[in-house]
Formats: sequence, structure tokens, C-alpha cells
Amino acid sequence: MGIKVAKFGGSSLADAQAFRKVKDIVAADPERRYVVASAPGKRFAEDEKVTDMLYQCYELAAAGKDPIPVFAAVENRYRQILTDLALPCSLEEEFQTIRTAMAQAPCRDYLASRGEYLNGKVLAACLGYGFVDPAEGIFFREDGSLDEKKTYKTLSRLVKEQERAVIPGFYGTGADGRIRTFTRGGSDVTGAVVARAIGAQLYENWTDVSGMLMADPRYVENPETIGMITYPELRELTYMGATVLHEDAVFPARSANIPINIRNTNRPQDPGTRIVPQGAEQPPVHVITGVAGRKGFASLTVEKDRMNAELGFGRRVLSALEERKISFEHLPTGIDTLSVFVLQADIAPWKPELISEIMHATQADSITIEEGIALIAVVGRGMVGTVGVASRLLTAVESKGIHVKMIDQGSSGLNIIIGVCEKDYEKAIHAIYQEFVK
Ligand code: ASP
Repeated sequence: MGIKVAKFGGSSLADAQAFRKVKDIVAADPERRYVVASAPGKRFAEDEKVTDMLYQCYELAAAGKDPIPVFAAVENRYRQILTDLALPCSLEEEFQTIRTAMAQAPCRDYLASRGEYLNGKVLAACLGYGFVDPAEGIFFREDGSLDEKKTYKTLSRLVKEQERAVIPGFYGTGADGRIRTFTRGGSDVTGAVVARAIGAQLYENWTDVSGMLMADPRYVENPETIGMITYPELRELTYMGATVLHEDAVFPARSANIPINIRNTNRPQDPGTRIVPQGAEQPPVHVITGVAGRKGFASLTVEKDRMNAELGFGRRVLSALEERKISFEHLPTGIDTLSVFVLQADIAPWKPELISEIMHATQADSITIEEGIALIAVVGRGMVGTVGVASRLLTAVESKGIHVKMIDQGSSGLNIIIGVCEKDYEKAIHAIYQEFVK
């Protein structure tokens, strides 16, 4: 029998009703032996997340103000859940410990982590599972990165001591021995780290959507859900703005070839999105797996007659960017032109300086900077080796009167990136979706 790690996000654990759904989901599959819990999220649009309230407590305490009224509201969230679930356990001792810590020496990460800690306790009681405190099994280095070696060794032993257990997400112990958290949304990372530590067969990430969508629903009406996506495809789409998981959650699972399944706690009957290692995928449903993009790019174009014959031309242009810590996204070249696509915000403070330095270093005929560019990535394993994808893509976009400023096909064939004016961005995404999906 394989082992599954199931992580439930804040909206899946926001109140007693949500806990009941989680209980049913866990009970439905005996392989769901390890469960990672977030802190209670919003119950309705204007509600506050417990983690946000805990950060408020810290700000108040650190400023010498009284955090107790806010903390009392946090306590009440948990008391309400315990009462509604009729659980015979109490968190009063834990509340007191936190109050004391807050009064003596308020510590930001410690306080923020208590949302997950307390919710983990409630969920363990609700499921009848054991409890593993990640403070004893997840370790950070001094620079804040995960100490993988120490973590995997300790965590796998700690978790496997229990047949079934709940592990709070979001935190571990820092190099100074104090509680330290991942960045916001970091329970996703805990889930992946636990899955990796115990060699799980699957990492289920339960949230409030039925998976990853093929396109942003703000620009495409009712986009289809992606049934299956490979890790390399996911990397391309998330880099270009599609969000589904915390970025750092992908690496631990990917490095151990553990598939991830994004599922919806409110619709457990939906299969969700499966993120699988390359080689484990099924044939794609559509030629493209998804389309995503970002605004806010600029292009810097250098022109010089007979540029092609000059050795080191590109290096001189890129050095000027590198010195200012500007990283480049794409570098399309012609015979006598070279364009560098960069983030507009990165280049903005340096424009006149860059132009004069590159002019000096390359003796270029002209240098122009164009701002307000959006990049759109069309990604899909179905595109690899398929004839005609680029021409369909260009026709779809240009038939809407949109000028394509740049096109760049990744050498793996897995993606094509186009650059368009920001004003055409939404229209272009829509046109691409219509062409390849609808
Ligand atoms: N509760 C934390 C946050 O709101 C971590 C998480 O939910 O993943 O960021």
C-alpha cells in the first residue's frame, strides 16, 4: 500500500463545516496517512485569516501596544471550531503559553506559526491522528534556506514513528534554534517536504479550486482545467504568472519524482490537476497545455551595421545589464540588431546611463528602449514535434489586429513566447485560447 500526504489549505480548514469535509476526504482513502494543516483561512470574503491576525498581534506587541484583544479573537476561532465539532480537547494551555511568549519577547515567526500549530492540534483530534511538531523535524540554515539533509533525515524518522499523523505546515526551526517560517503560503512547501521525507507515492494539495486552469479566467470565460501537466510544463507556466502552488513546493516533490495532485475540498469528486514527472504523462488532450503571461516588460534594441561580424558584441551589451543586476528574459537577434527583453521596473532607473554606456562600448548606430510590453507563453508537450503550431498561433493573434513584436521558441519545443503591446495582452490570450482549445 502506498502512502499519500494530503495538505489542506486555510480555506479547507476555516471552520467546523470545512473540518468535517476534510475528515470525510481523509477517511475515504486509508493511504492518506499524513496530513499537513494550514491555519484557518477566511470563512467569507470580509473575514480575516488567522495568520494575518497573528501578524497583527506581533506588530502590536512589538510596538508596546496591547495584542490581547486581537489574540482573543484568534482564540475564539479555535474555541468555536472545537465546540462545533464537539471535540473533547482544549487548547487553553497552549493559548496561555502563547500569551506569555507574546508578553515576554514577541517573536514574529513564532507568533505567525501558531496558527498552523493550533490548527494541527485540532485536526489531529478531529481525525484521531497523532501529531508531529515540525519544529522538531524541519530545519533552516542561517540564510533562511531549508537544510535539506538534516530535515529529511530527522523528519522521515519522526513521521514514520507514527502510523498516521497531522503535521502543521508553514514552519520549522531556524539555525538559532528559534521557530522560523517559510514565506507566505508556505504550508504547500511543508507538504512537499513531508512527501519527500517519507517517499510518498503522491502529494495531494487540497484547496478551494478544482485544479489549474488552462488560462486566466479574467480573460477567458470558463477555461478548461488542466487534467495533467508535467513538471517542465508547470515551470514554464508558473514562471509566466500562472499560480497554483507555492513556488518552493515544486522542487522537493519534483526531485523525488513524486506526483502532485491539486484537488478541491468542496468538490472531492473532481479529479483536479495531476502534476507528474516527465515520462509519466499521458497524451495531452489539446496541443497546448496552457497559456499564461505577464505585463511589465521592456525591450532594449541595439542596431549596428555589420554587427554580425563583431566578436563580443553581445557580451558588451549584456555586461552593461549585468553590472546593474538586471537579468534578461529573452534575447532575439537579427543580422544587425540585438534586442534584450527585461523587466521594465529593473531597467527604469538606468535608462540614460545604460544607453550611453552601451553606445560607448559597442559604437552602435542606434539604441532604443520600448516599454509597455507583455510576454505570453504558450506551453504544451503536445506542441513538441507538431507541425504548424507557430503559424496557427501567429495567425490567431494577428487576425485580431495584434502586432507580434517578438517570437521565441524554446529549444525543447515545449513553449513559444510572444511579445505584444500591453494593451493587446488580454485580447491575445483570448485569441490563443480560442484557436487551440475552443
Ligand atoms: N498560514 C500561512 C499563510 O497564510 C501559510 C499557509 O497557509 O500556507 O501564509
